[in-house]
Amino acid sequence: MIKLSAGTAHVLGLKKLATDALPTTAYLMKGEKCTHDCGFCPQARNASSRADLLSRVTWGEAEEEEIVRGVGTAFSTGQLKRACLQVVDGCQVLEQVKDTVSKLKRYSDIPICVSAKVKSTAELLALAETGVQRIGLALDAACARVFTATKTGSWEQALGQIQEAARLLPGRISTHLIVGLGETEEEMVAMLQMLRDWHVTVGLFAFTPVPGTRMAEVRPPALGHYRRMQAARYLISNSLIKAADCSFDSGRLCSFGLPVDKLREYLKDGKAFETSGCPDCNRPYYNEKPGGTMYNYPRPLQPEEIQAALELVIESLK
Ligand code: SF4
Repeated sequence: MIKLSAGTAHVLGLKKLATDALPTTAYLMKGEKCTHDCGFCPQARNASSRADLLSRVTWGEAEEEEIVRGVGTAFSTGQLKRACLQVVDGCQVLEQVKDTVSKLKRYSDIPICVSAKVKSTAELLALAETGVQRIGLALDAACARVFTATKTGSWEQALGQIQEAARLLPGRISTHLIVGLGETEEEMVAMLQMLRDWHVTVGLFAFTPVPGTRMAEVRPPALGHYRRMQAARYLISNSLIKAADCSFDSGRLCSFGLPVDKLREYLKDGKAFETSGCPDCNRPYYNEKPGGTMYNYPRPLQPEEIQAALELVIESLK
């Protein structure tokens, strides 16, 4: 058995879900509780959350054979463009990934991304040889202070591993950063630049409180805060600005170092506000309640949505 997100199950015809946004990536998960204890994660060792949650998405289980066959079919019809496999418990990562990747490859050439805790450089390189296109190494926190407050393990080790992986496997490493864990906007922008310099792809998330986690009572980031960080990620990752061009007021971003009309020009297609990360990963409703605040749009924005997002970015600048 293997877990799959509710949206993925819907695409594969295994579950009916009332939704206006389908995933373009198949989200699969192996393993039970994580060995780590992140304060925001329902899969954390000491979280008392429902075991079927990751962020605010629910996960079901199905026979692996049924899932890999369904992913192959959905890839051939263009419904799915990528598969993302997470191994949460850190046990026998290589064996688990090899097994699922070889099964997926029996049915299609869908690009596969694997997210796992990797214990050594040798394990990382072996993982890269399993046939996966990309490897996701979670950072989550934008700075050492927030990492120590919210996660277990070593910041230096986590960051050093990403840098080393990006050097050994150029263009194949992704990471996740969560906005709203207590970092300043200046700290987030500095980290976005460092990861850009290493050619690491960033999937940006908004902190989402989940019942049963240590951070269940912490509020998610204000939308204006998140929009500024989305704009910063987009501008930095497309080399349109550098972090050094930005100005901050008590840690809050107050200028991208661009005239407003230039900023409007760069952001006018709304891409900055869509879900970011590996190509074709749209993670519908990972951070949002349907009908609630849209942090990451899982689809192209409507003109009025672009206008509203842009105004939120611009109104807060000096
Ligand atoms: S960006 Fe998407 S596909 Fe890539 S590791 Fe994150 S969730 Fe998976």
